[in-house]
Amino acid sequence: MSNKVRVRFCPSPTGDPHVGMVRTALFNWAFAKHNKGTFVFRIEDTDAARDSEESYKVLLDSMRWLGLNWDEGPEVGGPFGPYRQSERMDIYKDVAKKLHEKGFAYHCYCTQDEVEERRKAQKEKGQTPGYDAHCRELTDKQVSDFKALGREPVLRFRMPSKTITWNDLVRGELSFEHEHIPDYVLVRANGDPLYTLVNPTDDALMEITHVLRGEDLLSSTPRQIALYEAFKQIGVGQGITPEFGHLPYVMGEGNKKLSKRDPESSLLMYRREGFLPEGLLNYLALLGWSFGDDIEFFSMKEMADNFEISRVSANPARFDIKKCTAINADWIRKLSVEELANRMEKQLIEVGVLPNSPSKEQKDLLLAATPLVHERLETLSQVPGMLSFLFVEEKDFVVDHEDAEKSLTHDILPALEASVKIIKELPEFKTEKLHDELNRVLVTEMGLKARIVFTALRVAVTGRRVSPPLFESMEIMGREKVISRIEKHLKK
Ligand code: GLU
Ligand code: ZN
Repeated sequence: MSNKVRVRFCPSPTGDPHVGMVRTALFNWAFAKHNKGTFVFRIEDTDAARDSEESYKVLLDSMRWLGLNWDEGPEVGGPFGPYRQSERMDIYKDVAKKLHEKGFAYHCYCTQDEVEERRKAQKEKGQTPGYDAHCRELTDKQVSDFKALGREPVLRFRMPSKTITWNDLVRGELSFEHEHIPDYVLVRANGDPLYTLVNPTDDALMEITHVLRGEDLLSSTPRQIALYEAFKQIGVGQGITPEFGHLPYVMGEGNKKLSKRDPESSLLMYRREGFLPEGLLNYLALLGWSFGDDIEFFSMKEMADNFEISRVSANPARFDIKKCTAINADWIRKLSVEELANRMEKQLIEVGVLPNSPSKEQKDLLLAATPLVHERLETLSQVPGMLSFLFVEEKDFVVDHEDAEKSLTHDILPALEASVKIIKELPEFKTEKLHDELNRVLVTEMGLKARIVFTALRVAVTGRRVSPPLFESMEIMGREKVISRIEKHLKK
């Protein structure tokens, strides 16, 4: 492919970003990288009633968090800006005017009710329902009568009477018959331009060569292809009709389309839950695309290097949160200890376990604890539960109530007393020594069950029955803290 590939990701800033949207962004990004092209990020914010500034900010922040960097777009700029449609209204006005003047679009004075009524009648007669071209050829008299009634017209595109065919990059050759595509509205009666106009206008002006988007937009494509033909006649853009590829649906629970409202579709949820961007993107890449050779674990660079559009499938993809989590866990295991410690630090700061700028001592402690959890983490949100006991101040240290009731029973107190004595007298406060000596006295000499007595110690020292390995944890906590926690319990 030539080095002129230009693709775009063009969401509307309504609500929170969802995974379907991220998948679209990712495939466009990878396609651009693979073909050494340009990844354009455009904001489709022409619907003032639904778009919000908050949503816009979250979008940009999310794209940055994911590492899906754009070559042109908001805050980055580029030769085809501005990249927010709300700042391009004059352009759309001008294009609409030209389409009207040259006869590619016409004023339609029908009210919603009238259109609806005629649609019903069509259905009853067994015809395909749709706008019936009522206003295509109005006389001057009809127009002035409508105006006298105070009606404002919408602008409708005049669909050419022919079959529209294209070779979809994902689905192969597709055709739409003329009678299934009625003349459609480009501009509302109040002058607001619609998606039907602004999206292809910008794709033409921004010289987009490939449109990769969800299958839900399939029915827009024949309309847009017809519009590009008109653009060529009136000189909007460089006469390019982009190639189209429609990405398969993403299915959720019960084989229903994953909806924006499903909790597992919210990008912010994954961020909150401590997924790594690498892990989430790796998983989303598999929704409709395959690396080949059954490889399911790869970096975004590897994805981009291998992103052949021919390996995007037309079959619906199934979203599986378990698999997503497993891939994330793989990604965590792949991080170096230092890198994981870094990411855990951010997570611990976010939930307030660590202060905004942790001390050298806290950082060292975290680094020492990282290998203890490295293999067992699935998401970073598990970190506070596993490691808070290392960082809480002694006065704030509490033992989980239920765990204490189960494990810190009355008959275990002599074992705890013996443990304090051993720990105090141990010449070297090291994992192995702790293990050997506690085991020798408590299990061999006193005849206690290892599982029971060490769980009790674990709860007394870490506050929970489930924690990183006990003796390693003790070692990095240090002798004093360990003794003080067990004694604190004995005093109760
Ligand atoms: N703003 C549209 C959307 O988010 C873009 C669709 C397209 O890619 O053409 O659905
Ligand atoms: Zn009409």
